[in-house]
Amino acid sequence: MAARLPGQVRVIERGWLSSNNILFLEGDSATLVDSGYVGHAEQTLALVREALGGRRLARLINTHSHSDHIGGNASLKREHGCDIVIPAGIEEHVLAWDEEALLLSQACQRGDPFRHDAVLRAGDEFELGGLAWRALAAPGHDMEALVFHCPAERLLISGDALWEDGFGIVFGEILGHQGALRATRETLEAIAALDVATVIPGHGAPFGDFEAALERAFRRQAAFEADPQRMGRNALKACFTFNLLDLQRLPASGLAAYLESVPFFRDVGARILGKSTGELAGWLLDELLRARAVAVEDGFIVPRMAA
Ligand SMILES: [Zn+2]
Repeated sequence: MAARLPGQVRVIERGWLSSNNILFLEGDSATLVDSGYVGHAEQTLALVREALGGRRLARLINTHSHSDHIGGNASLKREHGCDIVIPAGIEEHVLAWDEEALLLSQACQRGDPFRHDAVLRAGDEFELGGLAWRALAAPGHDMEALVFHCPAERLLISGDALWEDGFGIVFGEILGHQGALRATRETLEAIAALDVATVIPGHGAPFGDFEAALERAFRRQAAFEADPQRMGRNALKACFTFNLLDLQRLPASGLAAYLESVPFFRDVGARILGKSTGELAGWLLDELLRARAVAVEDGFIVPRMAA
């Protein structure tokens, strides 16, 4: 089923390092949802400038606090002077620029501090592109995340709570805070109760087959609940692939030392998989080579997908 979008909505589909940027045209101004990864800030500025077509970017709204969704915030604010609106649950972390709570230092990802102007809470109603939207709590991938629903157009902006095939890493559960995986299921149940014809996800193209996507997401959640090691393996592969897109290349001989230096890889490898970083390095490289997610060229591990 092809995705159908109202004329005032422009989805700038990005790769996996940057989240999609969703632009809502509002007369001579506009609002953007999510701003990509900091390493792509220049690219984001150029793409948004082009999509604006001379309009003013008045607002930038974030679905959640991860590096690939907030990385362009500071640059966009510098260029456009836009107001930044963030989920209320991350306000404290953004104000203090708490790199651990924002998952930056832990996962060895980068960010660019920014000042926000307002917050959105679950249940809040607001306007985007001249349409009425409501924010809903979407804990799981990020416990403070929000998704946005527009009943009139049956649209859902799902962030990383629901993709066409799955959802984002359930960081809370992976980091040992129980309840995040259960919250993931409850969020999927809450989303399933909405009237939705088109989903605009945080990554990947907008899609129309809401029911099939939900079914895949529920299956994945159940598989993770049944097998925490599977969830751990999946998270390590996804997070490493993401970081490699930022690094662009890593000496194969330095993989174990790199994994040892990043708390997320070291801790998850030990606690969930019971592997040392040396063992983890061998396993991870095998898995990613087999999945064709990476290649080894001249002694360097390089990504095989577009950033
Ligand atoms: Zn995310």
